[in-house]
Amino acid sequence: MNPRTYKIAVLPGDGIGPEVVREGINALLKIGDRFSHRFEVKEAPIGGAAVDKVGVPLPPETLSLCKNSDAVLLGAIGGPKWNSNPPELKPEQALLALRKDLGLFANLRPAKTCPALVHSSTLKPETIKDVDLLVVRELTGGLYYGEPRGIHQANGQKIAVNTMTYSEREVERIAVVAFEAARTRRKRVCSVDKANVLECSRLWRSVVNEVGERFPDVELTHMYVDNCAMQLIRNPSQFDVLVTENLFGDILSDEAAMLTGSIGMLPSASLGGIIALYEPVHGSAPDIAGQGKANPIAAIASVAMMLRISLHLVAEADAVEQAILSALMRGHRTADICAPGESPISTTAMGDIIVRHI
Ligand code: NAD
Repeated sequence: MNPRTYKIAVLPGDGIGPEVVREGINALLKIGDRFSHRFEVKEAPIGGAAVDKVGVPLPPETLSLCKNSDAVLLGAIGGPKWNSNPPELKPEQALLALRKDLGLFANLRPAKTCPALVHSSTLKPETIKDVDLLVVRELTGGLYYGEPRGIHQANGQKIAVNTMTYSEREVERIAVVAFEAARTRRKRVCSVDKANVLECSRLWRSVVNEVGERFPDVELTHMYVDNCAMQLIRNPSQFDVLVTENLFGDILSDEAAMLTGSIGMLPSASLGGIIALYEPVHGSAPDIAGQGKANPIAAIASVAMMLRISLHLVAEADAVEQAILSALMRGHRTADICAPGESPISTTAMGDIIVRHI
């Protein structure tokens, strides 16, 4: 029987995006060899790279390639070169438009401590040793999309406006994703809001409570976002699934990333539409771009999430995750996860070692 061909759209983007995505593709192709699958990988520009090449951050050809694939792997976008572009030509615009166009309302960001790295974290080993949490972030609503927005002139000065809105439907569907994810884990959901101050959060809390009644086997608690930011540092192992709105999730998931040692370790999946998108949590890291210093593990672990969730290739996903652990257990480190006295290896060296372990 001919092997099935999986079509993967690859959007390397800017800064370290192309560097880490290359390592992710190498891991994917090695999985193809080992498990006899065919992966048809097609690349398209996005973000600043697309602005430079065709004049817009999300070219229609890039969008249509995504829609005609089985899954999308993205690197990262943005950088100082495009900071002074008008809003519609900023690289970040591409990501917001892509999420909206593909209907990707749920962003899943797992953060699990790797035993080999407990001493690389800036936090104490006893604080982080049992961390295994999943941040479920609402991705297409809230402040990042609300209208009206803009900067206008009034009474002789500039006034900036952003709007946070949430509908019952938007909250309900992300809550369902969180409860269903909890069922496959330790069956605990903590919903994070600011219901003591924001109307959006009051609606959020009441809808999450309603959804919770449909999942009596899952324990539901609520926490204010300021307390959650503190608890993530004080006692992160208390959390199983955290579900929260777009802005809070953006901030808390970066905080959660540091529990694992580095933002260069954390993968993510964006789900909810016809096709899912997988990307490292980190940005384009202009400060280290082009220097071979980027940690490719977040991108390679994003490939593992893609194999597991979109392609339903569970043994293959396990093989990638196990290869990452093996590389770390043997002491291989990029600069961001080096403890004092350890010598860092390059992006490609780390990628090659992980591929060898697959
Ligand atoms: P960033 O995540 O790019 O970098 C933050 C810090 O983490 C930097 O010191 C960087 O060197 C380090 N870092 C990030 N990824 C790393 C990796 N794989 N290995 C080692 N170190 C790593 O965040 P930022 O500096 O706030 O943003 C830079 C640019 O990225 C901005 O233009 C921003 O808009 C964009 N951004 C894009 C995305 C995305 O594409 N999804 C997400 C966040 C930020």
